[in-house]
Amino acid sequence: MDIEFADRVKRLPPYLFAEIEKLIKEKKAQGVDLISLSIGDPDLPPPQFVIDALKEEAANPKNHNYSFSQGEPDFRQAVAEWYKKRFHADLTQDQVVALLGSKEGIANVARAFVNPGDKVLVPDPAYPVYANGSTILCDGLPEAMPLLEKNGFKPDFDAVKAKKAKMMFLNYPNNPTAAVAPLEFLRESVEFARRHHLILCHDAAYNEMSYDGYRAPSLMQVEGGKEVGIEYHSFSKTFNMTGWRVAFALGNRQILSGLGAVKANLDSGVFEAIQEAGMAALLGPQEELEEVRRIYTRRRNVLVEGLQRAGFQVEKPQATFYVWVPLPAGIRSVDFCARLLQEAAIVSTPGVGFGSYGEGFIRFTLTVSEARLQEAVERIRELQI
Ligand code: PLP
Repeated sequence: MDIEFADRVKRLPPYLFAEIEKLIKEKKAQGVDLISLSIGDPDLPPPQFVIDALKEEAANPKNHNYSFSQGEPDFRQAVAEWYKKRFHADLTQDQVVALLGSKEGIANVARAFVNPGDKVLVPDPAYPVYANGSTILCDGLPEAMPLLEKNGFKPDFDAVKAKKAKMMFLNYPNNPTAAVAPLEFLRESVEFARRHHLILCHDAAYNEMSYDGYRAPSLMQVEGGKEVGIEYHSFSKTFNMTGWRVAFALGNRQILSGLGAVKANLDSGVFEAIQEAGMAALLGPQEELEEVRRIYTRRRNVLVEGLQRAGFQVEKPQATFYVWVPLPAGIRSVDFCARLLQEAAIVSTPGVGFGSYGEGFIRFTLTVSEARLQEAVERIRELQI
C-alpha cells in the first residue's frame, strides 16, 4: 500500500540532528576517535539530591497514577516560589503549567492559537522547533526574523513583517548564537507584541546557564510581559535532566489555558515522582548549579581562547553552553563542518542548519571535558584555516 504523508509533514525540512547523527554513526563504525561538539545534551549528571528525591518518590505508590496534564498544584506552587526567589516577581500557581520538556510546550502552544495560514514570527537562526513543530505542523507559516551579528543577534523590530502574524517566538539566552538580551530588549519585545497583537512566547531554556556573574532577566519582570506572553523554563540544561522530560511555562493565564486545553487532550501529565524531584531541584541547595557554571566557564575559556589562537574572530559567550563561531568570508558552514569531521574528527553543527541567516557560522557545544576541548583545539590548529 502506498501511504501518503499529510501535507504538513511533507513541508517539514529534514530534522537537522538526524543527518548529523547518521554521520557520527558512520565514523564511529570506522573506529574514529570523534570529539562530538554538536548536540546540546549535557555530559554532567543531575545533582545527587535530585536523583535521591526521584528514587524516594518513585518508591511511593501515590505517585504512579495519571497526573494533571497542567502539573500538580504542589509543583506549580514550587515554581511560583522559585520564580519569586529568582526574579522577585509574583506569580500564582494558575500562571504556571508543567510541561513534558519545553519542546513539547513550544510545539503545542501554537496548536491552541494558530489557524491555517496564520504567520508565526520565528528567529533565524533558531532552535528548529519554533518553525517546524510549532508552526508548520499547525499549518501556520513561519516568517523569519533575521538575527544578525551587527544587531547583537536580536531581531530588528523595525524590519519585521508582523502583518497577519499571530505569534512570535524569542529565545534568550540564545541557541545557537549564545547571545544574551538585556531587560530593555525584552521591554521592546513586549511593546512590539502589544502594537501588533502578537502572542509572545519567550523560550528561556538557558536562563540559568550564565557566566562571569551575568544573570539573565525574565520576560515577566517587564511591565506588560504577563499581558502579552508566556516564558518557558526547563530543568533539562539547568539541572542536566534532558532525559527526564520536565519543564514549565509561566505567564499569561489565557495563553496558558489554551496550551492547557491542548495538553489535556494530548498528554496525561509529567510522572509525579519527576515533578517531586523537580521541586527538590528548584527549592533545594543551588551549590551544584554554581559548580556546573564554573565547569562550563572553564570549558568555554579553553575552547574560545584556543579558537582565537587558531585565528577565529570569536567572543566568549556570557550564557548557554554554545560557542557560535564566525567563519572566514566565503566558507560555507556545511563545507567547514565536513572538513572538521573528515580531517579533525570533530563533530560540529553548520549554522545554516538553524536557518539561512546562520550561514557563515558553525556551532560548538561545551558538553565534553576540558581535556577533550583542549584536544579539539589542537586538532583545529593543525588544520591551518
Ligand atoms: N529551547 C531551546 C532553545 C533548546 O535549545 C532546547 C533544546 O536543545 C529546548 C528548548 C528543549 O528543551 P527541553 O529539553 O526542555 O525540551
